Amino acid sequence: MPIRYIDESKDLKGKKVCIRVDFNIPQDDKGNITEDTRIVGAVPTIKYALDQGAKVILASHLGRPKGEKKSKYTMAPATRRLSELLGKKVKQAPDCFGPEVDAMIASMKPGEAIMLENVRFYPGEEKNDAEFARKLANGCEVYVNDAFAVSHRAHASVEAITKHIPVIAAGFLMRNEMTFFDKAMRNPVRPLVAILGGAKVSGKLEVLETLLNRVDKVVIGGGMAFTFLKAMGYSVGKSLVEDELILTAKKIMDKAKKRGVMFYLPVDCIVANAFEATATNFITTVQEIPEGWMALDIGPASATLFAETLRDAKTVIWNGPMGVFEMDAFARGTFAVAEAVGSAFATTIIGGGDTDSAVRKAGVDTKVSYISTGGGAFLELLEGKILPGVKALEIKTRK
Ligand code: AMP
Repeated sequence: MPIRYIDESKDLKGKKVCIRVDFNIPQDDKGNITEDTRIVGAVPTIKYALDQGAKVILASHLGRPKGEKKSKYTMAPATRRLSELLGKKVKQAPDCFGPEVDAMIASMKPGEAIMLENVRFYPGEEKNDAEFARKLANGCEVYVNDAFAVSHRAHASVEAITKHIPVIAAGFLMRNEMTFFDKAMRNPVRPLVAILGGAKVSGKLEVLETLLNRVDKVVIGGGMAFTFLKAMGYSVGKSLVEDELILTAKKIMDKAKKRGVMFYLPVDCIVANAFEATATNFITTVQEIPEGWMALDIGPASATLFAETLRDAKTVIWNGPMGVFEMDAFARGTFAVAEAVGSAFATTIIGGGDTDSAVRKAGVDTKVSYISTGGGAFLELLEGKILPGVKALEIKTRK
């Protein structure tokens, strides 16, 4: 069913517009924001609403305060950063609702914005509680969801709230996410190549199953590759393996063959004698991983092979690092793949926090077509699921 976007919505002038954003940004020990991509991503929607003369009431979660008011998780630093980005003061509310918040809202003029406190200060948020959602809605006339990264959660500020506000719409960040996803998965220009990495097969099983029905090639790196390599009969030493999934891994490879999906695994790797940044390490083929050693990155031949798979690609989706890229000694494979994705003559879509930071560290973030702001939400879309936060925006009987 269709979704209405904020610029297709009714006149916003003078209206109280609640915008759910995802300002769940990383901070250092002193509360300094270390990465503001999510705030930057929501600016176009907020700016649009302000320019239309809306009274903008922003809601977000931050961290895991577990239903309690903990000052460590205040939205204040994000609100300050947003004010800088907008060039306009956004006031920080002391709570999500209550007399003080009501007074702040009552004194708002068109074109002004306030930020509510962390919605996860209340247990009702994660319980999708109707009463909490009603209080949060607080008489707003329009609700806009621009928080893609949390839209796979049926939480009150994402789902239940849509039942308490008459006009509902999605923001521009949400539109970008859905548009690029559609481009990649529903209407891909082929060949469509999916690169999957990260720690475990178990976390990406459903994604793999769905992808096999849609893609032309699958490239597997990271820790998850070693369950497949073991399933092929190789000894993989102390590399990460999920023994209980070996049969499943075999089935996946069979399915790929039956469907004519090219299935690529690493041909070489960097093995280490310990899971440590300073561990002794060397390059070897996947056939010759020594007993007691663990593979922590793909090797240079695999990086070349994987880059080769992208040569004719027209659409590329990448989720998950090729190795333990947090340690310099095991980051080269991920960066090489980032380079290859950045240089591909294709629509390239990156999803997941690790992959996002790898692409930025490799300096190719401006060369890819789209970096999704969602980790879990992106994976759930790849699994073919309908996100509860998106479903709640579908126009049913609403005008
Ligand atoms: P995921 O959240 O499943 O995408 O996994 C990301 C994590 O996988 C990163 O923290 C990597 O360090 C880790 N990872 C990637 N390759 C390996 C590997 N070969 N062995 C162990 N961990 C890995």
